[in-house]
Amino acid sequence: MIRSIRVQLLPNNKQKTKLFQFAGAARYAYNWALDKQMDNFREGRKLQTDHELRKAFTLLRHSEENKWLLDISNNVTKQAIKDLCIAYKNFFRKQKQPGYIKYSSKKVTHYTRIGKSLTIYDMNGHPKFRSKKNGDFRFYQDNVKIQFTDTHVKLESLAGSKRKNRQRLNWVRLAEKNRIPVRAKYTNPRITFDGENWWLSVGIQISRALKPLRGLFFVCKKQQPAHTEGIGIDLGIKDLAILSDATKVGNINKTRAIRKLKKKRRRLQRQVSRKYQMNKKGDSYCKTSNLIKSEKQLLRINHRLANIRQNHVHQATTAIIKRKPSFVCLEDLNVRGMMKNRYLFIKIQEQNLYEFRRQIEYKAQWAKIPVIIADRWFPSSKTCIACGHVKKDLNLSERIYVCPACGNVIDRDFQAALNLKRYGEAERMISAS
Ligand SMILES: [Zn+2]
Repeated sequence: MIRSIRVQLLPNNKQKTKLFQFAGAARYAYNWALDKQMDNFREGRKLQTDHELRKAFTLLRHSEENKWLLDISNNVTKQAIKDLCIAYKNFFRKQKQPGYIKYSSKKVTHYTRIGKSLTIYDMNGHPKFRSKKNGDFRFYQDNVKIQFTDTHVKLESLAGSKRKNRQRLNWVRLAEKNRIPVRAKYTNPRITFDGENWWLSVGIQISRALKPLRGLFFVCKKQQPAHTEGIGIDLGIKDLAILSDATKVGNINKTRAIRKLKKKRRRLQRQVSRKYQMNKKGDSYCKTSNLIKSEKQLLRINHRLANIRQNHVHQATTAIIKRKPSFVCLEDLNVRGMMKNRYLFIKIQEQNLYEFRRQIEYKAQWAKIPVIIADRWFPSSKTCIACGHVKKDLNLSERIYVCPACGNVIDRDFQAALNLKRYGEAERMISAS
């Protein structure tokens, strides 16, 4: 099993410059290869293979005007070209799929309006040129050569020299101690810049824990019953989640910290758009240093918001799985129906509901707890838990459910969680028999 870990890097200034250079080289190689392939396509030739492209790029590296590329590890540009070939492969695979739309209707109408003809580049899924403007800074590291200590990571040829006193430059500090196991098997290490910080993501091969040997050994600790009851989870907008054992995970967006940040963000957004208007010259904008500063601040606030929300979901999902329920039952979120409503759409995004479900699913898989997704049409909030009556015309504003059949009064979301738990129990019975 491979577990992917993401850690922030704390490079010094010299290292930062180098990281940008590496990312620039990866971008350059990717775009160079894409340009080549599009040329091939235009002139009716077959696309070049990964191997051919890399050979041509090696010649380019050694040419006089591209000397700067020699300072950068060969692995970085090699992988960038490989990435492009993979992107093309995915593109061709998608194009072969029946019913796959080659040009989106939005693109078609746009191009007819401006009187241009569509090219292969405009097809859905065609690899796009990477650009600095879009904040595209990322590159690959060799998975065998990469090394870790509990505080640092060794990146390849950052120092650009083999001299011993320069080698220290290769070791970049990690923001978290002991996060990445030393001497493990690493896969696909990638380094990215999000506009503010540098990050390293890496896959780590983890072995499953050994099963205890029964019969030969005594069990020292009295073993806890591994599995308790199942848990039904109702996801919501008012609170993030209501569990069938009557606990609830609150809405992080209602906390003071988030509200304050959002207020700050609104003010900055206004400031930025005002500054853009002020610096408008005909069709183009002139970015003043103050504007760049405000934009950076805005980016930082957005990251902070995303981090707080993500962290909240992580804590909630970990806590749920740590209780070792015998199963977890969630409702299937009705994507299309919810996307239509703009208000709901924003709330769901803020609440990270999809992220919640994703985390529950993979964390449950690690803990070997089955996850049951209730059918989309299962009336989890409309069904009375006491008598089974289904109240068809239940309004979203009715927070308290009053059963017209048996008179039972219960919190709407709590009842939904209870129904989901019952749904899960029924599913388990069916699969067991
Ligand atoms: Zn009832």
